[in-house]
Amino acid sequence: MPQTNRVAHFIRLTAHRAARGRHLPRRHFHFYKSHAVHFWLRKATAPLSWRHRHWLLAGILFAAAAIIGVMAPRGANATRDPVASDFITLNLSVPPLPADADVGATALAGSAFDWTTVAVKSGQTVGAIFHEQGVSGADLQALLRDKDNTNALVRIRPGEEFSFAHAADGRLTALRFDRDEKTQVTVTFDAAGMHQATAARDLEHRTEVAHGVISDSLFDAANRAGMDDAMVIKLADAFGYDIDFAQDLRPGDSFTVIYDSVWREGEKLRDGDIQAAYFVNRGKRFSAIRYTDSHGGTMFYSADGRPLRKSFLRTPVAFTRISSYFSLARKHPILGYTRAHQGVDYAAPTGTPIHAAGDGRIVFRGWQHGYGNVVIIDHGRHYSTLYGHMSRFANEKVGQRVHQGQTIGFVGMTGLATGPHLHYEFRVDGVHRNPLTVTMPKPEPLPATELARFKRQSSPMLARLDKLDSLQLASAK
Ligand SMILES: [Zn+2]
Repeated sequence: MPQTNRVAHFIRLTAHRAARGRHLPRRHFHFYKSHAVHFWLRKATAPLSWRHRHWLLAGILFAAAAIIGVMAPRGANATRDPVASDFITLNLSVPPLPADADVGATALAGSAFDWTTVAVKSGQTVGAIFHEQGVSGADLQALLRDKDNTNALVRIRPGEEFSFAHAADGRLTALRFDRDEKTQVTVTFDAAGMHQATAARDLEHRTEVAHGVISDSLFDAANRAGMDDAMVIKLADAFGYDIDFAQDLRPGDSFTVIYDSVWREGEKLRDGDIQAAYFVNRGKRFSAIRYTDSHGGTMFYSADGRPLRKSFLRTPVAFTRISSYFSLARKHPILGYTRAHQGVDYAAPTGTPIHAAGDGRIVFRGWQHGYGNVVIIDHGRHYSTLYGHMSRFANEKVGQRVHQGQTIGFVGMTGLATGPHLHYEFRVDGVHRNPLTVTMPKPEPLPATELARFKRQSSPMLARLDKLDSLQLASAK
């Protein structure tokens, strides 16, 4: 039981991390994921990937057209012309060719070189790789002086690729790297010195659709539907305020997702953002529509225009389990006598980041008897939260504003604690309430004019989700 909880907690809380733009802890991710596989029932339901179907269909049509094109001239007869005209009208979607307008001279120059591609190995620096390929220290310094190159050359990751070209005598003649997704840099070397040229590469956003039914785990269902792990976390993030992915998922739950993917020159780089999604959990359907309001803020909303993001996180720590519930009378583990436990304890390893449950201002940061190192946040509108037993604080000081999900400190066992855990209190008008059951303030719906704009933009998306759902139901029969 703890295992499944940890897995799902991980899914949910990692989603919060991802939302804050951090790198995922891949090592743990794979561990949890591999253990997540078997905790649901065995009822396999074939997921549907429209993307694959479309390409399959296109492929079959194309193959048919090709066969007809080859066969028809040999077997010339009365049926030939109608067949020929049929396949001429076929309108196949073909990946667009890379834009050649702005690639221009660099691409032409680039194609004249005989490139050798080097993939970065773990622990390698760009200096070592460049030195090995004959790039002088001075030239590397010159490349690094161009601030636009810094990210690409300093923060290199294993698997990233650099290309080098050498003359017959072994002299370096050119090198090439991706400055970012859209920009390729080609550096050429000749008697006059080093020349840097950049080429813009067109990115193309495509819309993809996935539908999955959970039989074993959310990850399995989503992977079968063609979604990568990062997209699963985005999905869990979007619905994480309404669905407790630790305890609420059941076999038979399903999801339908419309999302972006980013392509370059016919090659998929990555999945983009969720545009709209349904998640059916225990028979109840939740919707999420990505919407950028007229002030430029982007969030997920339900179909009726309420933000999915709530005022408070469900859980302020990741990788956790509840070790002690809110109670009006419990025997204190250290003091020995019975008294109220006015919060919830989350057991977690020392050093686990503690997140602000909601937007607010730090009103206390320091030592309090029993609580040890403690932070108190005032969220306004009568709400405040308290975080106790911290091993240490994050940088935010008293009086500073913090955002929901921001790290305010780290799990520890300072004060009266038998093991590392977060003691979390939720107060309404100064009165302790059970954070697991207290009625949270409802998010404000969009104001009227904004709501009208939202409805205009979201209705085609919702219609599309409905259509996909009905097609899926029909194909499942
Ligand atoms: Zn406690």
